[in-house]
Amino acid sequence: MSNKNSVWVCLEQTGGKIAGVSYEMLSGARKLANELSGEVCAVLMGHQVQEQAKDAFAYGADKVYVCDNENLENYNTGAYCKVLEKLVKENEPEILLLAATTNGRDLAGRLASRLETGLAADCTALALEDGQLVATRPTYGGNIMAEVVFPEKCPAMCTIRGNALSKDDPDASKAGEVITVAYDVEDAELRTKVKEIIAKASGEISLADAQIIVSGGRGLGDPSGFDLIRKAAATLGAAVGASRAAVDAGWIPYEHQVGQTGKTVSPKLYIACGISGALQHLAGMKTSDVIVAINKDEEAPIFSVANYGIVGDLYKVLPVMIEEIQKVLESR
Ligand SMILES: Cc1cc2nc3c(=O)[nH]c(=O)nc-3n(C[C@H](O)[C@H](O)[C@H](O)COP(=O)(O)OP(=O)(O)OC[C@H]3O[C@@H](n4cnc5c(N)ncnc54)[C@H](O)[C@@H]3O)c2cc1C
Repeated sequence: MSNKNSVWVCLEQTGGKIAGVSYEMLSGARKLANELSGEVCAVLMGHQVQEQAKDAFAYGADKVYVCDNENLENYNTGAYCKVLEKLVKENEPEILLLAATTNGRDLAGRLASRLETGLAADCTALALEDGQLVATRPTYGGNIMAEVVFPEKCPAMCTIRGNALSKDDPDASKAGEVITVAYDVEDAELRTKVKEIIAKASGEISLADAQIIVSGGRGLGDPSGFDLIRKAAATLGAAVGASRAAVDAGWIPYEHQVGQTGKTVSPKLYIACGISGALQHLAGMKTSDVIVAINKDEEAPIFSVANYGIVGDLYKVLPVMIEEIQKVLESR
């Protein structure tokens, strides 16, 4: 049955916890569906995940297709793809959104090939023009932003970057229809099985979830500069970010990189230390609520997006800031 004008979102869950990007996609899907006078449908695959459907309604879903099976507890390319392929073929949504995460990218590629449809990967914005989806995505290594249209959509498929679409406030009073989907993947079809997931024992706050980020760039001078950045982050309960220059120099792992070819972040507070503010860095953090920049060059482009700019040596400024923040915290 054709689900004309419906916008579908494949929710991503790990250990039963739905990833924040799923709620951002639902909020984005709601806006598109309102313009199309269509509905928002979410697909939730996992094990013992029915309860999470409520959250999907709160963020704008009208229907949630729940496929619950112990073989779906952890992401599995073959099983997830088969379930989603069947649902899409049966319901023919107009638009299908998946997260541009490791799992979402893996699933979207295989699914698009099975459905023989196009896929716009790593999108940062979605809009409608004359009722047609226009997806914006970085291309040529992030040097330009391309607008992608889907003339032969069936459906129009996109993966969406985390923190790229704004998340609406949830409305817990919203309810919708839960549709239980039968799991019909034979055990023999599962070529791989995840036996155990071992969480990284870093204790660091992840960039994606952080409300505050303290970032360091080439201006740190050497890798030990990140000790000061980590101290500032620990004081503020913040995550540690970095520019690509710092990552490329091997001072900090890639997972900390903010920017066009790193993570897109949108925290309440972003403190950029020794970062010049190249376009590719700004692309990943300029939607932060408050930006503080510390740079010894008063002409540095980072000051053009900063709400508060401190012209000075970060090695003199940051220790004073840490001390003052500690005093405020201790006085509470
Ligand atoms: C296709 C493409 C994709 C890219 N993707 C990304 C990306 O995802 N993220 C990203 O960050 N970049 C990205 N880049 C690289 C980007 O263009 C810049 O080269 C990079 O962001 C520069 O990093 P930086 O600001 O740390 O270094 P620099 O530009 O070298 O700036 C260092 C700054 O530190 C200041 N400074 C020096 N010493 C001190 C001190 N003691 N105290 C205070 N300030 C000091 C200097 O005044 C300077 O402004 C990309 C580039 C390309 C071409």
